[in-house]
Amino acid sequence: MLRIAVQSKGRLHDETMELLAEAGIKIGSAKRQLLMAAKNFPVEILFLRDDDIPNTVADGVADVGVVGLNELLERGDRAKIVKRLGFGSCRLSIAIPKAEEYDGKRWLEGKRIATSYPEILRKWLKENAIRADIHVITGSVEISTGIGLADAIFDIVSSGSTLISNNLKEVETIVTSEAVLIAKQNLDAEKQEVLDQILFRLEAVMTAQNKKYVLMNAPKASLEEILKVLPGIKSPTILPLADPDWCSVHTVLDEDCFWHIITQLKAAGAQGILVLPIEKMIL
Ligand code: ATP
Ligand code: MG
Repeated sequence: MLRIAVQSKGRLHDETMELLAEAGIKIGSAKRQLLMAAKNFPVEILFLRDDDIPNTVADGVADVGVVGLNELLERGDRAKIVKRLGFGSCRLSIAIPKAEEYDGKRWLEGKRIATSYPEILRKWLKENAIRADIHVITGSVEISTGIGLADAIFDIVSSGSTLISNNLKEVETIVTSEAVLIAKQNLDAEKQEVLDQILFRLEAVMTAQNKKYVLMNAPKASLEEILKVLPGIKSPTILPLADPDWCSVHTVLDEDCFWHIITQLKAAGAQGILVLPIEKMIL
């Protein structure tokens, strides 16, 4: 039985549970308990505050966990990162009042910086040979400068709108974060086997996330031109249609180049283009 630590509520909870469900690990939605076993897989989920996940995994109370890279780095980095999960993106940045003129890192010398991430900040200040006072607070860091508690803050930024509404500007980005799957060192063989299966499934789910399955009718006369436009995984599938002058072309397209290619396909004579989501993809 592999025990996975997951944030009990908060920003990472829903997406983590969704990803596990897509990987075929289903947890009953009955009354939420601290520990819940999956119905169809040798896995149990331990629901915790995100602050506690890195150490719970490092100490082996849970075998693996999903947590923000920011929390992992703050809590000492003893668990190992197995996979970046591509959601929960944010950064840890230093911000100062908008009216201040920032002339580089030296500006921070001798200043007071409020943060909930003292360890990451301490390390960065040391690496940059800056002496500054770290003022640890656990919430509402963004109001620290406005109330005279600090000269600068070091906090999570995602869209930047919280900074703007508090009259702050971002001046240094120190960590770029996303949710990561972490594991304790030296899992036993049986648990490693379960983790490998989960990784295989996650790979299939995540590979499919950005992809679309596209099928279209193509006049045989323009087939060559249409095929030139398609990247496909290997090569597209071509199937005959009842009308001998036409065929059906099936392929997989990346969301990023999707509209560009669809426009070219239409121009080349493709018709009846269907676009379908892909649930899983094993390369
Ligand atoms: P808990 O109650 O579990 O301690 P929390 O309040 O400490 O939760 P959340 O606000 O739920 O934490 O954020 C969890 C993680 O989500 C963060 O550590 C970070 O990795 C990520 N995250 C992504 N975007 C943001 C954002 N805009 N603000 C805060 N965290 C974000
Ligand atoms: Mg927390």
